[in-house]
Amino acid sequence: MKEYYFAIIKFPLLVSLSLVILTGSFFGIALGSYFKLGLSLWDTVLYTALFIVLVVLIFSWILNLISTHRKIQPSSMAIYAKWMLFHVFYYIAKALGKITFQKDIDLQESFLNFNNEIVLSAAANISHRNILLLLPHCLQRSDCDVRITSDINSCKDCGRCDITDIKILADKYQVKAAVATGGSLARKLIKDLNPDVIVAVACHRDLIAGVRDTWKVPIYAVLNERPKGPCFETTVSTKTIEFAIKKFQ
Ligand code: SF4
Repeated sequence: MKEYYFAIIKFPLLVSLSLVILTGSFFGIALGSYFKLGLSLWDTVLYTALFIVLVVLIFSWILNLISTHRKIQPSSMAIYAKWMLFHVFYYIAKALGKITFQKDIDLQESFLNFNNEIVLSAAANISHRNILLLLPHCLQRSDCDVRITSDINSCKDCGRCDITDIKILADKYQVKAAVATGGSLARKLIKDLNPDVIVAVACHRDLIAGVRDTWKVPIYAVLNERPKGPCFETTVSTKTIEFAIKKFQ
């Protein structure tokens, strides 16, 4: 339980720690230079620019922390915070994670969790009509007679894989469900169907690539389980999928 908790908070913890280290280093170096030699004009310009960058980083991070609990308004501010999350803070956490020998997979899971919190708080009290359930091809049994490409309705409901239950869920909540065999097809499906929100099932690597690739679209990430190894007859918790759909409807 303790380990699971640390895995969840790893991403926000690493970003916060990085910002504390950067702030401490900045003031240590700037004040050190000032008291030792005094600051030249160029030093003053440089330290002022670095200070502004630091303030922007801290402000943006606080905005992201707030967005895990409440919807950020105006929407341009929410988009800015999200841009910073995907294009700056993810890399900051990754860099400190590498230096401190953190497992990539834990950091990815924590990042996806953080993203999910933001997506859920932004969607609170909003009823989404166009929900897309995006599934990986590896959920299907390898010996299935039917080749499910994009539409899961061709599944014959034999019940040997989770597609049957997901099909029932999609019918029950009237959401679109599609199988993507790769990143290009996923992008095409998103472009064609133009969903308000996506519930995406995949492994760590594909989810990270997906949420970063289409960062403007709210994506609730659901990790699949891989009892037989990667990309082969994977499974997923349909309860988690149902939880996400109910939150968005
Ligand atoms: S549940 Fe559907 S997709 Fe899965 S093995 Fe059976 S027919 Fe194929």
